[in-house]
Formats: sequence, C-alpha cells, structure tokens
Amino acid sequence: MPQVTERIPPMPGITPNLENYEETYRTFTWEGAERVFSWAKTGRVNMAYECIDRHCAGSRKDKVALYYSDPTGRDEAYTYDELRVLSNKFGNVLRKLGVRKGDRVFLFLPRSPELYVSLLGILKIGAIAGPLFEAFMEEAVRDRLQDSEAVALVTTPKLLPRVPVKDLPALKHILLVGAGDDLPQGDGVGYYDYQKEMAAAEEELEIEWVDREDGMILHYTSGSTGKPKGVLYVHNAMIHHYWTGLWAVDLKEDDIYWCTADPGWVTGTSYGVFAPWLHGVTNVIRGGRFDPREWYATIEKYRVTVWYSAPTAFRMLMGAGEAVAREYDLSSLRHILSAGEPLNPEVVRWGLKVFGLRIHDNWWMTETGGIICSNYRCMDIKPGSMGKPVPGVQVAILDDEGNELPPYRMGHLAVRVGWPSMMRRIWNNEEKYKEYFRFPGWYISGDTAYKDEDGYIWFQGRADDVINTSGERVGPFEVESCLVEHPAVAEAGVIGKPDPVRGEIIKAFIALREGYAPSEELKKEIAQFVRERLAAHAMPREIEFRDKLPKTRSGKIMRRVLKAWELGLPAGDLSTLED
Ligand code: ATP
Ligand code: MG
Repeated sequence: MPQVTERIPPMPGITPNLENYEETYRTFTWEGAERVFSWAKTGRVNMAYECIDRHCAGSRKDKVALYYSDPTGRDEAYTYDELRVLSNKFGNVLRKLGVRKGDRVFLFLPRSPELYVSLLGILKIGAIAGPLFEAFMEEAVRDRLQDSEAVALVTTPKLLPRVPVKDLPALKHILLVGAGDDLPQGDGVGYYDYQKEMAAAEEELEIEWVDREDGMILHYTSGSTGKPKGVLYVHNAMIHHYWTGLWAVDLKEDDIYWCTADPGWVTGTSYGVFAPWLHGVTNVIRGGRFDPREWYATIEKYRVTVWYSAPTAFRMLMGAGEAVAREYDLSSLRHILSAGEPLNPEVVRWGLKVFGLRIHDNWWMTETGGIICSNYRCMDIKPGSMGKPVPGVQVAILDDEGNELPPYRMGHLAVRVGWPSMMRRIWNNEEKYKEYFRFPGWYISGDTAYKDEDGYIWFQGRADDVINTSGERVGPFEVESCLVEHPAVAEAGVIGKPDPVRGEIIKAFIALREGYAPSEELKKEIAQFVRERLAAHAMPREIEFRDKLPKTRSGKIMRRVLKAWELGLPAGDLSTLED
C-alpha cells in the first residue's frame, strides 16, 4: 500500500466536543455513557421521548426543533413542544386503529413535517417504523411491505398507485396525507385522511415505555450488492447516536444542523432525526430534489452551522463549479461531514478551497446503525482515509481465517461486537444475519480496508469487488479516486474483468465532465495517468465511456450492475437503482 503523507490539520475556531481523541478512546466505556438519558433515573425508555418530550420540561420547550421548506413553497418551523403534541396526536391516531407495540408501520412519503411527526408517533406507541424512499416503484414497495408484514402505512394519494394493496394481506390501514374527502375503498383496507384524523386526536398520550432491546426501526439496505436486507434496530441505539452526535457530528446547543439524507436511508434517521434531537439542536429539513443553487440557498437561509451530506452530492456541487458556491453566503458553516461512499481526496481539497473547511469522512453501514469510524475535528485528516474508530468501538483488519493483520495489509474490515446501535436482526433472514458473525466476537462488514501505522483506516472496496490482477489485490476505490483526479473524469466505476492471463484485468467505466469528448487518445491518456500515479498493475486496461453510471438512489455506484453489463449477466434486484 502507498504511504500517504498528505495531512490537513484541525481548523482553528470553535473548540470541538472531543478534544483529545486518544485519551477518550482509552478511557471511554459504554457502561458509563448512559447517565445522560432520563432513563438512567426513571428506568423508562423510549427514543421519541428522549428526542422530543424530555426537552419540553426544560429550556428547549419553545426552541425550534425543525425548520422545513421545499420548492413547492412550504416554509414552516416547529418547536420542540409543537412536535411533542403532534407526535402525541399521531400516536393516538394509530392506537385508535388498534396498532400495538411491535407492529410495523411504514412511511412512504416525501420528506415533509408529516413524515417526521409520524415517525416520532410510531415510536411513542412502541411500534416499529419502516421508512421508505419516496422514489420507490411498485416492486420495491411490495417487497418491503410483504417482507415486514406492515399493518399500517402512511403515504400520499400521489404515491398510493405504487402500493399493491391486493398483494399485502397484512396491511390493514392506510393514512393518506392530503386526501381530503376523496378516500378510496376496498381491498380489505381502511383508508383515512391524515389531517382529519390528526385534527380529531387527543393531545396527550400515554407513552409506551419499552425495553432497551425492543424493536424501533426497520431499515432496508441500499441494495448496492444485492437484494436489500431488512435491518432491525432497538431503542438502545440512542446511546450510540447520542455519543457519535457529540464526538463526530460535534453538535452544540446553538447549532443549526442540516443532514441532507432522506430518512428512507439510515443516515436520514440516525443522523437526520435521532442524533440532532437527542442533542436538542435545531434541525433543518429541505424537501425536493438535489439542486446546487437550492442547496447553497438552504445553508444561507437558515445559517446552517453543521452540514452532513454524501460524496455523490459533494461531487455534483464540485461539478457545478466554484462560481456557483461564491454566489451564496456560506460563512455560517463550521463543520462538514460525509458518509455513505468513499470520499475522494480530490473532494476534500475542493471543500477546503470553496468552504474553507475540511470535509470529515465517516464510515458506517445500515447494519451498524451508527458511525463506526470518523475523522474527528480534533484530529489531522489524511484525505482518502475514513479516520479512526469511535471511542468504545474496536475495529480490526482480519484475514480470511479471522486473524488480525498488521498495518498496511488489506483484509476484512471487522468491528468487535457490542456497540449500542448494532442491528439485532435481519428481518426474516436469520441465515444472513449469522453470516456477518462468522468469526467469533467480530462483525464482518463485507468491506475491505487497511490500517496505517497511525491507526487511520483506509477503505479499499467491497470484499466482493476486490480485483485480483496478476497476483495483486487491488481495491476499486483507489483506482476510482485516482481516475477522478484526471480533469476529464467526472465519475468512475471500476471492476475486475476475467482475463485468461492476468486472472482479472481492471476495467473502468467513466462519465466525462462537460466539455470533454470520448476518444481513443483520451482513454490512453487516462490509463497512463493512473499508471504514473498508482502502479502499472492498477492501470485500467479497458476503459468505457458512459453518459451516466448506475447508482442507487442514495448515490452509490452499483459495481454489480457494471459487472453484469460487462459479463452479460442478469443485474439482479434493481429496486433501488436511480432512474
Ligand atoms: P447493500 O448492503 O444492500 O448491498 P449498501 O452496502 O450500499 O447496500 P448501505 O448500508 O447503505 O448499503 O451502505 C454501507 C456501505 O457503504 C458500506 O459497507 C461501504 O461499502 C459504503 N460506505 C459507507 N460509508 C463509507 C465511507 N465513508 N467510505 C467508503 N465507503 C463507505
Ligand atoms: Mg451493505
């Protein structure tokens, strides 16, 4: 592995919550971490209570908990107390329908205040919430509602045609946001107008106090590597969300926080709902689709201080050009985070130039429920590295037999079992769940990585994506990151293509930046560019230009689709593929 020397030191300014990583890592234990929650005193647990109601007894009662706006012109603000009352009401609506603790209630809604209110209401009565991404088509909705046997669904009249009610025998109740009097009938399902039910509901609710190990959320994975898996978390996850919200997200009382992820993905709940509200900060939600100008305008409008987004968004902002960013006042920003995909060093350097701030990469996955590795504000950043493990979490690089590897050796990225937000089940798939724990005491992530001599972790790719070429193991990410440093390359996806001589060769699919035309010379130039920077064996021997790369709706490059294209095989489950 190459020795990387580039480092970006901490930025001066506001003192971070985590000031001495090494010391905290040595001394922190989860056992001592619970005293921040009310249940340390009361013995009674509920995530929604800890996020919202707890603040209403004190000084945050009238503080804005949620700012919401979207391109249709909605522009609203809700205090903690308003969210408390609204979520109480929704809990009462569900109870009146007979929904009970442990039942699955799904949300198939665009980002909107109703989505967040419903989510909190579901948790308050101890039911399990299943957020779905609004762009899902019928098959994706059917798979998830059948697998989870959801009894109730909150959706809109516009999305309802994508809900195959006849195929969903467990589904009994559908609440329609914005239905008015125009309610459908039939198929053994009760239809209700959300607003009407809310207006009639009681404002006070007996919260369902649950066990820390009771189910809370069921999230389906992104589907980058295969059929999405239903991952179940429990209320206990709040311990993890709280502490990573403190150390990695660096939340402080006066922060205006914006996480751009949709709650259909785990980032949109763990860090779009729970972490910020456990800390009692003001949370910004912007509806509608990605647009560089609207995004910058959102930061300017709310004076956002902490911003959590994803590499795909940063790359698109980069593609829109620095001049667009300069049209807006982004001076309120003090901390930027990224997760979900490898963050290319090129993007970190661009962020430094345009925002005057470092973008802090975080690694975790649906199954981990919360951040596992992070670049903390108190630490040097080595661009391209996902930083170091969260205090209380042990991370190791293991070989195929489960032995720990020394620095710079690529292997399985594994996490010592026992962190609070870890999934507790794969819904209806015990076998799959067990596969993650095939080395005793370890959770095997399915990603490959190496550690450097300072303990920084470097992502190399998905274990399934590792390319074995002429006896060398090459992670696709390293090649992709090098490719996007070439001025002509906007995005790149790299796979191993079977080859009789070399085992596999590296093939790169490339989307070009505007102003560049595909040509054989350009292919040669790009291949040479990688050869000179990485190694001869890391050079893509084949390059194919494409207008767009196949990506999940959460913005991840789907290498399995590239591979299927290449080999002429079926591409598998495409329910999460972008249009
Ligand atoms: P599926 O499990 O259905 O195939 P998925 O793995 O993409 O889909 P997620 O749980 O949303 O579903 O994504 C987690 C994965 O995203 C990680 O396993 C890793 O491969 C990638 N990832 C997340 N954060 C980072 C990061 N900071 N750097 C590199 N890769 C990351
Ligand atoms: Mg995965």
